Amino acid sequence: MHEGGPDFLALWEEGAGEHPLDRALGLISAVEGMPRGEAAALPLDRRDRALYRIAARLFGNRISLIATCPDCAGETELSFSATDALAVPLPAERIALADGSACRLPDSRDLAAALRAPDPEAALLAAVLDTTADPVRAAEAEAALASAGGLADLTLAHHCDTCGTDSETAFDILDYLWRRISAEAQRLLRDIHVIARAYGWSSEAVLALSPSRRAAHIALIEG
Ligand SMILES: [Zn+2]
Repeated sequence: MHEGGPDFLALWEEGAGEHPLDRALGLISAVEGMPRGEAAALPLDRRDRALYRIAARLFGNRISLIATCPDCAGETELSFSATDALAVPLPAERIALADGSACRLPDSRDLAAALRAPDPEAALLAAVLDTTADPVRAAEAEAALASAGGLADLTLAHHCDTCGTDSETAFDILDYLWRRISAEAQRLLRDIHVIARAYGWSSEAVLALSPSRRAAHIALIEG
């Protein structure tokens, strides 16, 4: 991490061209210092908990979002905290099946491999089922994984003030985190653009300014 706070430009630059699965691993490695290979082996529930911790560290505990009503497309502002999400009980990492075998929660490597397979769903189930398990257990494993609980069950209830419909929305912490990081990076790029163009300074010189000095320069430039 940058000594003056998170280096949003570096985080954005590293993740911008990556698949979201790799982007998550890059963020965990850059912010939490966990080697990428180790992050790739985290069950997805634990990966998402790491992303919630990172969101709290970079942007504060409160997570705000706009939910759209499925009936009238009215927008409602929702907020919850990373602490709320982290308080959801951890799911079991291994789930016993009726034939005495078991399946485990998928991790990023399983998901990446499954996405390259002709039938991603079948490939994912095959990866998380014990090799001793009868392949007919796949349906049982699928149901067990779907009800494993943890953060996968985290949905946000919202009430539309326009039409009164109650609905639920799922929340994707990786998407949230990436949108916040991208917005910070775009803001920094704009600061660099405005100040560098006016004074002929390098981007390094602009980034070396404190945020308050950058804002003061921009206010003078934009008069
Ligand atoms: Zn509505």
